[in-house]
Amino acid sequence: HTIGEDFNSVAARFPERDALIEAATGRRWSYAELRQDVDRLARGLLAQGIGRGDRIGIWSPNCAEWTIVQYATAKIGAILVNVNPAYRLHELEFVVTQSGMRMLITAPSDARSDYAGMSLKVREACPGPLEIVVIDDGGASPDGALTLGQVVASAESVPPARLQERMEQLRADDPINIQYTSGTTGFPKGATLTHRNILNNGFSIGELMGYTPEDRVVLPVPFYHCFGMVIGNLNIYSHGAAAILPGRSFSAADTLQAVQDHRGTSLYGVPTMFIAELALEDFADYDLSTLRTGVMAGSPCPVEIMKRVISDMNMGEVAICYGMTETSPVSTMTRSEDSISRRTSTVGRTMPHLESRIVDTQTGETTERGVIGELHTRGYSVMQGYWNEPEKTALAVDQDGWMHTGDLASMDEDGYITIEGRMKDMVIRGGENIYPREIEDFLYQHPDIQDVQVIGVPDEKYGEELMACIVLRPGAPELTAEDIAAFCQGRLAHFKIPKCVEVRADFPMTVSGKVRKEQMREEAAEKLR
Ligand code: ATP
Ligand code: MG
Repeated sequence: HTIGEDFNSVAARFPERDALIEAATGRRWSYAELRQDVDRLARGLLAQGIGRGDRIGIWSPNCAEWTIVQYATAKIGAILVNVNPAYRLHELEFVVTQSGMRMLITAPSDARSDYAGMSLKVREACPGPLEIVVIDDGGASPDGALTLGQVVASAESVPPARLQERMEQLRADDPINIQYTSGTTGFPKGATLTHRNILNNGFSIGELMGYTPEDRVVLPVPFYHCFGMVIGNLNIYSHGAAAILPGRSFSAADTLQAVQDHRGTSLYGVPTMFIAELALEDFADYDLSTLRTGVMAGSPCPVEIMKRVISDMNMGEVAICYGMTETSPVSTMTRSEDSISRRTSTVGRTMPHLESRIVDTQTGETTERGVIGELHTRGYSVMQGYWNEPEKTALAVDQDGWMHTGDLASMDEDGYITIEGRMKDMVIRGGENIYPREIEDFLYQHPDIQDVQVIGVPDEKYGEELMACIVLRPGAPELTAEDIAAFCQGRLAHFKIPKCVEVRADFPMTVSGKVRKEQMREEAAEKLR
């Protein structure tokens, strides 16, 4: 069925239970209250003349209204366009134009971002009519824009029966969402996804994690990204569980505080978020005893960090999910019954109703078990395509329906998949293929290293050499290339020992918390020149 129907049936079963809590503001919604707000906004959008398939953008950091907009648009069959809150004029204009957006719902302007002002500017530059709606704090709307409150108030003119009628027209295979990829390797691509794609994926993840209405899931990951809106919202609300929002943007301290204050049972994050939480000076003071599970995903998950999440954060059942925006997103994940070694070093097995294969990039043949190749995914979760970009879609999804992920992986005899990293990140040193992830995993064992990324840098003799970029633990002494070489000596093959070492305060990141290795490579090459 559709996202709206699923939400209604869960809300009818658990009306009194907590659905959504904003830890920073104290605002909270039960399922009955959330459904009421969703329905009111849905009717308001109908009153504004929004039709099935119209594109509505949302451009805001995490907040309750994001969720309400997500479900209200799903109920009326409008296609939600998730806009990265870090975008500025140029990128916003691209997304608005490329998606043919009819309405843009934005956060109120704050010290860092003049969301409303930039939206109005973009409207001037765009060809089609674009309604700007500002999520209000009760104040007046800026000139030329509506407030979300005004849209909600216009619901008066639309009887609930009209919303019901619209919902009944919708089909599970209707596109309902354009989600942009993180932009880790280049300009983000907009994946067109249907109810069937993302609702099934969200629901399956929760089934494998054993979610019930008792679960309280702490979400520091952005809603604009599939991690927040599918692995987060769609999963949570299809199980009657509660979503706890620690704040508008990521803070390690606010996240652990939200777990403690709201008795979180599950915590999400990309690896760098967990690394930052574990590194908090007062980490031991937080009460994390209510946690049982969680999800780490988004980039290679270091074994050492997984082990610490399990032992020090009480997340005994934590899962690693692997996937991409284009596959709704999760295509493989670990299960709590898997052995600890598989749960910390692999991305688990393929999700129910999906297929995975590993393909030799030269021959196009499926590889023997254990042999590295490109991972392909097929099944219900594969996107309809990149929005209005048939050529790019044809490059990503082949004629048999396989999504070519661009990630290197191997599969063992039992179907467990190990990700080696992106094809673009592989280092070729003197003809030898080197997977940075293996060296990163090894270096995480160094007592002075808090975070590490290994990249390839140009080298005259070998074509490429390895560089380890390191964030030190607070108070740790400086590390040199000689120190690292001494640590690796006798434990790693000589060609895997990083030749250069750079100590840095942090890494360049996407809003979804991924390290932009592409940018680091460019910076390093520039410096070495
Ligand atoms: P872009 O496609 O715009 O360059 P992106 O690939 O980072 O950005 P997403 O769709 O957010 O955009 O991320 C999908 C990618 O994230 C995967 O292709 C893979 O490289 C990486 N990834 C996700 N989960 C994992 C994981 N558990 N282990 C290793 N890598 C992962
Ligand atoms: Mg990608």
